[in-house]
Amino acid sequence: MSTTPNIDFNSVYGPVKSWRYGRSLGVDPIGARSTCSFNCVYCQLGEIELKTSDRQVFVPTTKILQDLQAFAPWDVDVITISGSGEPTLPLNLGEIISSIKQLTHKPVAVLTNATLLNNLEVRQALCLADKVSVKLDAISQQQLKLIDRPVEGINWEYIWSGLKKFRVEYTGGLGIQTMILTPWNRETKTEYIRLMRSLLPDEIQLNTPTRPKPLKYQLEARGNHSSAADRPYKVLTFRQVSPDFISDFATEISAATNILVRHPLSHESPVS
Ligand code: SF4
Repeated sequence: MSTTPNIDFNSVYGPVKSWRYGRSLGVDPIGARSTCSFNCVYCQLGEIELKTSDRQVFVPTTKILQDLQAFAPWDVDVITISGSGEPTLPLNLGEIISSIKQLTHKPVAVLTNATLLNNLEVRQALCLADKVSVKLDAISQQQLKLIDRPVEGINWEYIWSGLKKFRVEYTGGLGIQTMILTPWNRETKTEYIRLMRSLLPDEIQLNTPTRPKPLKYQLEARGNHSSAADRPYKVLTFRQVSPDFISDFATEISAATNILVRHPLSHESPVS
């Protein structure tokens, strides 16, 4: 186990307004170098600097707790662990979640890309969180490679098998977060609905890229930087799927599955 020296950066940021969870304080267990097992084409962090599925301690738990103290009494709805990459990569994730809950008495949410859910220790750590939002942008290996661009050794079947194990074990609020870049055809929509019917998450969060992608990694991109004034760096902007497409598909999914489907396009303010 190695510990990257991440002493100079602040591991706590925000609060930001999250369309998923309300007023949210962000905790970054990764640090100043973006690190992920995906390299999503739309990633708001920019091109991922360290692409890996190897776990290690990136930020000591004591450093996170120390940074959190400055935000007491934590006037937020939730503390969300996300930040500069994939939060299940840190080996101390379970310790981070339980220490934050002990210190703040606030609900803790984790946003994950699901690539490590076959790992029992990862699932046990996530089971300590009140809410877990799992990214599922693809219904096939082909779509996964195009959109999420995983590191070698991670394929769609592997991700789905981990997700099914986690669904059985997790008793908190499970959300499936799906980013749609171009309008899906009938076949893709039908397959997605079939998958959701078999998984039965507590809610589905549909989205389309509302925030531009920095050309290079920016630590500031962890928070809400939707307006140009907030980001003095070069970005790529994506075409978005129309609000009608998202809202029609949301209605169709919920009619077919009885699962609550939420999306941010009906909200007026910038979202994370
Ligand atoms: S999983 Fe999240 S952090 Fe990782 S590349 Fe995709 S959007 Fe970025």
